[in-house]
Amino acid sequence: MLQLLADPVAATVVAAVVGLCVGSFLNVVIHRLPKMLERGWQEQCAELRGETPASAPRYDLVAPRSACPACGHAIAAIENVPVVSWLALRGKCKGCQARIPARYPVVELLGGAFAALAIWHFGPTWQGLAACAFLWTLVALTFIDFDTQLLPDDLTLPLLWGGLLANLHGLFVPLQEAVIGAMAGYLVLWSIYWIFKLVRGKEGMGYGDFKLLAALGAWLGWKTLPMIVLGSSLVGAAIGITLVVVKGRDHNVPLAFGPYLAIAGMIALFFGPALVRVYFPAG
Ligand SMILES: [Zn+2]
Repeated sequence: MLQLLADPVAATVVAAVVGLCVGSFLNVVIHRLPKMLERGWQEQCAELRGETPASAPRYDLVAPRSACPACGHAIAAIENVPVVSWLALRGKCKGCQARIPARYPVVELLGGAFAALAIWHFGPTWQGLAACAFLWTLVALTFIDFDTQLLPDDLTLPLLWGGLLANLHGLFVPLQEAVIGAMAGYLVLWSIYWIFKLVRGKEGMGYGDFKLLAALGAWLGWKTLPMIVLGSSLVGAAIGITLVVVKGRDHNVPLAFGPYLAIAGMIALFFGPALVRVYFPAG
């Protein structure tokens, strides 16, 4: 097995297969984590109002088992093989023929593709494994923020600590750059938020965005932050303006900024070091 992993092509294929399965789990996280948070908040509110919270059936990342939201048909293991099952079922539930959104296999494919890219780029090393964890977490955050405009602490904070841990011995950047990156990432967006709020009287983004950029700073170092902020703002502005022009979207409706930050972070993982050398030749 270890000999197999020594071959870069074989290691990449193994990573892709494992990544597909992780992608399947990411679908569960994307679907359930926001609902779990909402349940938690409602329980807290009920407690504050002095009500005894109604005992609800268990709902977390493990239970209940996956089932068709339309007919409740329990999804058997054979119907849960990443991508293959969706293709075999032609994107329809076996029980009721309801459409299974193409998003499920897309998330699985992203899980596999990013794992393959990470292992190909960094090799079957601690760096490669850490890069997989980084990319998978960002995929989950991207979809959750797109759906719900939330960036759960349950993902952003572990991502931040994970970045500091990975760089404890300089896996991606020296620890000093990681710590400054985490602080600067948070402070930059926090400052923009307050300037925006004081000048325009409205909120352009949320605290989740600060934590996400802090996490990206922890992983990629402070020198990468200018590119991430610039890149995500440009893409965000371009898409935002396009939506206003093409679809007549109300420009007062806040757009989720998290997905752009996350995408910029994924790109920076691979291309950041080269760009940093251009802008900070001494470092
Ligand atoms: Zn069904």
